[in-house]
Amino acid sequence: FLLLIGIGSILVLIPISYFLAGKSLLPIKETFENQKKFIADASHELRTPLTVIQTNIEVLKLKEDEQIKDNMKWLNNIASESETMAKLISDLLLLAQAENQRLVLEKEVFDLSSMCTLLVGLMAEIANEKGIELSENILPGVQYRGDEERLKQAARILLDNAIKYTPTGGKVQLCLSQGKRNLVIEVKDTGIGLTEEEKAKVFSRFYRVDDARNRETGGVGLGLNIADFIVKKHGGKIKIESVANKGSTFSILLPRPNLKQDTKKNNHKID
Ligand code: ADP
Repeated sequence: FLLLIGIGSILVLIPISYFLAGKSLLPIKETFENQKKFIADASHELRTPLTVIQTNIEVLKLKEDEQIKDNMKWLNNIASESETMAKLISDLLLLAQAENQRLVLEKEVFDLSSMCTLLVGLMAEIANEKGIELSENILPGVQYRGDEERLKQAARILLDNAIKYTPTGGKVQLCLSQGKRNLVIEVKDTGIGLTEEEKAKVFSRFYRVDDARNRETGGVGLGLNIADFIVKKHGGKIKIESVANKGSTFSILLPRPNLKQDTKKNNHKID
């Protein structure tokens, strides 16, 4: 009889506690939603005045005025800091959109090889300025169905990091290859590398291995989180192989597409 009472009261208490917990969680959920919306809206609103500031700096820099020329150093500092802020705002906006499920990927068939070649070309000057040998080994004619702009952004983050975290005189290489199951974009560097412990944390938001050492590189620790999100949205993953003080290889693995099936199903835009 006691056992029956025990079981009975458990059966009654479980739904009641679920109901109460659900009620008390509702405001917390709402607060989170509001917070996410606030970040998205704030990032969006901050972009306009910042663009105005940046345009005004450019106008000032072009003026033939001795006083302005004497103060060019300060103007350049403002320009560089506003560029960092613009990048931070656009990263925050992208992450907020991602969290609100408002980030829609444009999936179209495109030439992944051309995208990689273009990217290496874009980064050539930055690498050159830093005295880093940038090379490529890109398999030609590789087609892929996905969001070209976003994937370019992800690969660019890896390439940008490879250059940032490799000292002068080092080497960086971007490779594109085709395995049985995956297309692989590899970014190899001979830079500062990562320990096992650091490797496990680098995808977390705002994580930087050594903030003091990295300060001059200007990032805030959002890049890999964004790259990881974009690649996962394509059903892929980012793999890291790294040895501290020797270098790293960051690889984007994208499941190989079934292009024949895709073209039959749809001519162009698919999501
Ligand atoms: P950010 O570069 O803006 O700091 P990321 O999210 O792109 O942010 O990278 C997070 C951290 O991972 C970096 O601060 C850096 O410490 C480490 N990291 C990323 N890429 C590399 C690399 N190629 N070599 C060594 N460390 C790296």
